[in-house]
Amino acid sequence: MNTHESFNVRDYNWSGKKILVVEDDLPSFIYLKALLGMTGVETFHVQTGAEAISYCQENDVDLILMDIQLPGISGYEATKEIKVFKPDLPVIAQTAFAIIGEKEKSIEAGCDDYITKPINKVKLIQMLETFLGK
Ligand code: MN
Repeated sequence: MNTHESFNVRDYNWSGKKILVVEDDLPSFIYLKALLGMTGVETFHVQTGAEAISYCQENDVDLILMDIQLPGISGYEATKEIKVFKPDLPVIAQTAFAIIGEKEKSIEAGCDDYITKPINKVKLIQMLETFLGK
């Protein structure tokens, strides 16, 4: 059986879990919210790295999907800051291009994993499963 064809996002139930999406591009956020919403997960949205840091100081989430190219400080810098006070909070970097060295920069910043845009939904959901269960 083709594993891609058998994939169904509705097989995942992340009700009660919270994901913070840090994304300055609104259509990208809307896509992620619609996709992730099928799992029952609650999504929260901020548009800058600075907002992400203050959001995490005041709120608990289970995971962050962090865009790297953001206005102001980058997603890498925001991740470094957040990891100072929430070292165990999983952060997945989303980068626009498969630039050589981006994966290394993500790991160096403290990101737990890394996915390239445009985001492949099967890859994203399976990556999230390693942090959130199924
Ligand atoms: Mn961006």
